[in-house]
Amino acid sequence: MGLKTALRHTVLPKRRYLIRSILTAFILFIVFISSVLYFINLKNNQQKIQLGQRAQSFISNYLQDLTKTMASMSHLSVSTCNKTFDQLSRNAAFNVGIRVLMLARNNIVYCSSAIGSSELQLSTLFPSIDPRKTLDIQLQQGTPVVPSRPILVYWLRTPGEENAGIIAIIELNMSPYLLFTSTGNRNNRDFALLAGDKALSASSSTLTLVSKLPITNYVQFMVPDFPLKLRLYAPSLSRDNILFTLLAGLLSSLLFGALIYYSLLNRHSVEREILRSIRSKEFFVQYQPIVDTNIDQITGIEALLRWQHPIEGFISPEVFINYAESQGIIVELTQHMMMLVATDAHQLAKKLPANFKLSINISPNHMKAASFRKDVTDFLNALPKKHFLIIFEITERGMIDNEYAIREFKWLRNQGIEIAIDDFGTGHSALIYLEKYTLDYLKIDRAFIMSIEKNTLFAPVLDTVLKLTEELKLKTVAEGVETYQQAEYLRNHGVTFIQGFFYSRPLNADVAAEFIVNFNQKTCEIQA
Ligand code: C2E
Ligand code: CA
Ligand code: CA
Repeated sequence: MGLKTALRHTVLPKRRYLIRSILTAFILFIVFISSVLYFINLKNNQQKIQLGQRAQSFISNYLQDLTKTMASMSHLSVSTCNKTFDQLSRNAAFNVGIRVLMLARNNIVYCSSAIGSSELQLSTLFPSIDPRKTLDIQLQQGTPVVPSRPILVYWLRTPGEENAGIIAIIELNMSPYLLFTSTGNRNNRDFALLAGDKALSASSSTLTLVSKLPITNYVQFMVPDFPLKLRLYAPSLSRDNILFTLLAGLLSSLLFGALIYYSLLNRHSVEREILRSIRSKEFFVQYQPIVDTNIDQITGIEALLRWQHPIEGFISPEVFINYAESQGIIVELTQHMMMLVATDAHQLAKKLPANFKLSINISPNHMKAASFRKDVTDFLNALPKKHFLIIFEITERGMIDNEYAIREFKWLRNQGIEIAIDDFGTGHSALIYLEKYTLDYLKIDRAFIMSIEKNTLFAPVLDTVLKLTEELKLKTVAEGVETYQQAEYLRNHGVTFIQGFFYSRPLNADVAAEFIVNFNQKTCEIQA
């Protein structure tokens, strides 16, 4: 895992971003599907109405034409069947959809285009037709001749006659409304023709009662001038509509959610997060005691920066310091650390003796910054006057044979600041360069200390390093000392200063002061 990824994984409130993205995606999903379904619903209803209106005008036109034809024949109903039969059967043949034309008088159907003269009771043949009406239309399940096929019976009374009129039997499977059911009854689509209490739907070959028709998802139209109604059945939202909308909504909101998540991650970059944490005072400093083994007293402390993130918890400086260095915000972070240390120093000064050593870690990158000297001066001015002996711990990496480093070191020493080379032995510097710098301490890296009593590759190197520091007359600090054996070994090899969990972990300022006072008192008493 790269450093950036590592820090990103550690620092950013990813869970919060994730929840936020999921919530936003969910809201988008709801808004998306409800608005899309709303528009599909609207569109479907519009289509239903358009279709219904087209059917309505088609049927209306058909019946108007038929009425004209029937009206033109109305005089026949006062004549005999023999005289009128020819015309009757010709009209029946030439009018689309008409099965039979009949003439009725005094409740008797006396002439039919199909069979000629007859003596049939009108009320038996067409029980629902009311011959007193000028115009009547009824649905009927066939005739005695063809009983299985539903028909539409159309009665038109002859003007001026009380009980004579003409009857058209319209073949319903030929009726124009069937044209509009081209979509069939797929997906709950259907078409129904309603007359009185009876109805015929395109999906069925038998009549049914209007009350038995489905009661949802239809639009109904009156056929103007005729006692007929049309119903168009179609669901406002089909199953396909809903499925496709859900799928599209799901995909787009997933995509959207992922986009939000990544843009949140990017917008809230780690740099910003560190700068925000500085403002919200999430950083604090802990102090680790350094023991002078010559006198067995704690004579110094190293300030170590800590980050307590409100969501992610404790974040190791190993991660955020490196990140701050690579992203160019180490200056801001160090300025903040210096301010925190200076504040703590006023409390520590109350308990710790004068000339107590206070080490802080300085990044070589900060030394190259334009503000470096000002930052140092501000720090010194913020400290309690003439109480602490300040040491800057600087890693050897990145300042090998560097004129600039030499000049800055000189300036620092002029300000009364001592210099320690941190993590000594881990960098790429050849030991020979050490002579070029005016230094005070070498801090031997924990890796070398761990090699003591272990047969690692580092073990012989440690001895070489110790010999060299002796020759260079540099003071040595061993860091990361964890055991009595390590401490003894170092003491026997002339290492003067020891720092590590063996003595104490880094502690908060007040605890550290307390610890140091107690430690020094105890060892003083023992020595006495
Ligand atoms: P460092 O300067 O080498 O600091 C010593 C590190 O070793 C500290 O880790 C300390 O807690 C740890 N340590 C001390 N004694 C023992 C021990 O006996 N055993 C073990 N296992 N560890 C021990 P920490 O605090 O996590 O700091 C890590 C590094 O972060 C530091 O290494 C230093 O390079 C950097 N750092 C910390 N604070 C600052 C700061 O304010 N400014 C800069 N520039 N760097 C800092
Ligand atoms: Ca250090
Ligand atoms: Ca170290």
